[in-house]
Amino acid sequence: MTPGEFAEVALAYCIEMQGSEVAGYRTPRLAETLGDDPHDPHRAGMARDVVYDQLPSLASAITTAERYGLFLYRNPSHDHIEPSDWRKRGDSAHA
Ligand SMILES: [Zn+2]
Repeated sequence: MTPGEFAEVALAYCIEMQGSEVAGYRTPRLAETLGDDPHDPHRAGMARDVVYDQLPSLASAITTAERYGLFLYRNPSHDHIEPSDWRKRGDSAHA
């Protein structure tokens, strides 16, 4: 998945789930300030953090994300999405 393809499916996910992107690409400076892993997908523009108008069940969020080729995990303040193959490439660790 290219950054352009990811941007397109991330937007489609947000529209379908009525979610708003609150984080995307991060500069090296901000990523270091936040303590992100050097291979964090946000540094490559390959992750979004999403908040919802109405929080969906985790199962529903994961099912929808998978349909778009995305991996999703839930944090206390947001859901994080990234391409489902990002971690398989050994590029990533993120919270
Ligand atoms: Zn994230």
